[in-house]
Amino acid sequence: MKQIVLATNNEHKIEEISFILQNLPISVLSKKDFNNFPDVEETGTTLEENAILKAKGIYEATNVISVADDSGLEVHALGGRPGVMSARYAGEGCSFEDNNRKLLKELEGVPENERTAAFRCVIAICFGEDNVELVQGKVTGKITTEIRGEQGFGYDPVFFLPFYQKTFAELPPEEKNKISHRAIAINKARELLIKRLEIEVPTE
Ligand code: IMP
Repeated sequence: MKQIVLATNNEHKIEEISFILQNLPISVLSKKDFNNFPDVEETGTTLEENAILKAKGIYEATNVISVADDSGLEVHALGGRPGVMSARYAGEGCSFEDNNRKLLKELEGVPENERTAAFRCVIAICFGEDNVELVQGKVTGKITTEIRGEQGFGYDPVFFLPFYQKTFAELPPEEKNKISHRAIAINKARELLIKRLEIEVPTE
């Protein structure tokens, strides 16, 4: 059985990725399966750099094909910020609410047609030394002028999807998880693994 290791400590991500890979003959490992699993520092200046750093760091420690992701919100009127800084936009240890307030404040006075933004998820897969491939998922929308909705996390309450006329935080989680930047990227990673590992996909 082929093996991959997920370079994350986040249980929700492990569940989400494992779910999308579940019908493949791949055994999905994570931190708990190793006793030398390093915490790789995210020192990159782009989502791509961070995903590559994590995938390479975990591959080097485990010698198993590794899958790492990094996501963020890119607001066009802010030149792509918060981007790679999304988690700590309002400062180290800040809450999701602090980040959303800061974002809405920075966009005060920006007209609706200039409030475009994208959630982007980059996944790096390290197949061997100096053998890393990237895939990405992207969802575009607009930043609201106020917080809307109770579901989800992070910037979900300020990210409005014109097609649904709802923010991510107003969509049922099952719905968001089908169309999110992360779901798109994980599905592309699945296709890449099938191709690179020459996996025969079981028919239903
Ligand atoms: P991570 O790389 O997936 O841990 O995401 C970094 C940060 O980006 C999170 O702390 C959130 O602030 C933001 N983010 C990523 N994905 C989402 C999402 O689906 N909804 C809302 N915020 C997100």
